[in-house]
Amino acid sequence: MYPSWLTKQAFDFHTQADSWWAASANNPELLAPRLEGDHRAEVAIIGAGYTGLNAALGLAGRHSMDTIVLDAGQPGWGASGRNGGFCSPGGAKLEYPEMVGRWGLETTRQFSQIQQQAIEYVGGLGDNPGIDYERTGTGEYIVSSGPDAHRDALAEAQWMNRSLGLAATALSQPELKERGLFSPLFTGAVHMPHGFGLHPLKYSQGLARAASEAGARIFGHSMVINWRQEGKEHVLETAAGRVRAQRVLLATNGYTPAGVGDPMASRILPVFSNILITRKLTRQELQGQGWLAPELVSDDRALLHYFRLLPDGRFLFGGRGGIGGERAEESAVRQRLEAEFRTLFPAWREVSFDYFWSGLVCMCRDLVFHVGRLPGRSSSWYGLAFHGGGVSMASWSGAALADMIVGCHDSRYPIPGPMLKPLPWMPLPALRPLYLRGAYTWYGLRERLQGNRLVTN
Ligand SMILES: Cc1cc2nc3c(=O)[nH]c(=O)nc-3n(C[C@H](O)[C@H](O)[C@H](O)COP(=O)(O)OP(=O)(O)OC[C@H]3O[C@@H](n4cnc5c(N)ncnc54)[C@H](O)[C@@H]3O)c2cc1C
Repeated sequence: MYPSWLTKQAFDFHTQADSWWAASANNPELLAPRLEGDHRAEVAIIGAGYTGLNAALGLAGRHSMDTIVLDAGQPGWGASGRNGGFCSPGGAKLEYPEMVGRWGLETTRQFSQIQQQAIEYVGGLGDNPGIDYERTGTGEYIVSSGPDAHRDALAEAQWMNRSLGLAATALSQPELKERGLFSPLFTGAVHMPHGFGLHPLKYSQGLARAASEAGARIFGHSMVINWRQEGKEHVLETAAGRVRAQRVLLATNGYTPAGVGDPMASRILPVFSNILITRKLTRQELQGQGWLAPELVSDDRALLHYFRLLPDGRFLFGGRGGIGGERAEESAVRQRLEAEFRTLFPAWREVSFDYFWSGLVCMCRDLVFHVGRLPGRSSSWYGLAFHGGGVSMASWSGAALADMIVGCHDSRYPIPGPMLKPLPWMPLPALRPLYLRGAYTWYGLRERLQGNRLVTN
């Protein structure tokens, strides 16, 4: 049912990821009841992450639709409860200049505008007293290394401001140091003013609470094992229950199973991302490294690292994971990430780590997210492939999908044309793990040849 090259542990829906977020959430396992018996709803949603929960909030709240959400784990069990908490421009792995080449400038501008609106949308949700997700920092820094990093950053910021109307700024190494973001390897950066950090599991649980208060019924530990149509009605079966619904939304992203998730399951590429969390760092240790700011930072490599100082003084450091996620591979990934961390932050060479976990992001062939009607099934929709940027964009897409499902024509959550096209086919889907291995090897090699000093593996 789930991709054969991925370890079964990645789909252990009864165990919550052993993450810092679970350890620090007020209510580590928000227990949504298990679906039992027969139920009816106008809309059934498969998956209670940001996509499914924001859709439920919109459907039950704005549109007063009778809505049921089913998750194989608890709300936020998937990537939504275990990510880096970067609420920043998301939804794509494609760079802006490549978007311009593919779609033209106007559509790229629209895309960058909805990236900003998606961040504001999540920011607005944080005003809801029930969604207390610990907002931190302002904007996002993309750091780079090398002798020309500052000059390149200046050119990039100018291009983005001129072409996309952004308010990006370029920073030199001394300027980064002044802002409390020092590593000897970061010789330049672009600062994007949009974005903030949040506690991803508290955000997921707050969303589940808000959607329930709006009237949605949310069920946990209720994996959909069969989806069939009887006339105009959809029937979703779990081990202990059944939901009959007029419309269905598939919101399972990197955890999409074959069968229930067809025909999209073979078009996506689930990819591991891993996170390390240090022990609490003292003020002296933070000053010793010159890292004092709570800002979102990632490096400019294709296989990027993402990192940020958390409110209690721990440091979050994330990067690419393995291919299949087996135990031996996970421990090699951990060693590599720890070594990379020590290279980037030499003053913290001796610092130990309290948490390490992984989760699945969802990629696809054209490197952008897609939402719309599910081909081959009537009155069904999907929202998938948010790449490494679903905190903002999966949330926005969930809100957009709520409007699409009820047929609202003047949605406040517009989606640009290329993202409304069907998720593209993946050629020979059985070869996906090989494609991924090839991509990792190629990007690593290319960055080495380019002399990128942030490449440590
Ligand atoms: C380690 C990591 C770090 C990341 N960091 C960031 C970041 O800092 N910023 C950012 O923007 N993005 C980040 N992402 C990506 C982001 O978390 C995702 O894009 C986003 O959470 C996707 O939300 P979703 O609701 O679409 O899917 P998910 O949150 O993955 O939810 C899918 C749900 O579907 C459920 N499901 C699967 N099969 C079934 C079934 N048969 N029946 C019922 N339920 C089912 C699963 O249990 C799961 O809860 C990160 C991802 C990972 C893994």
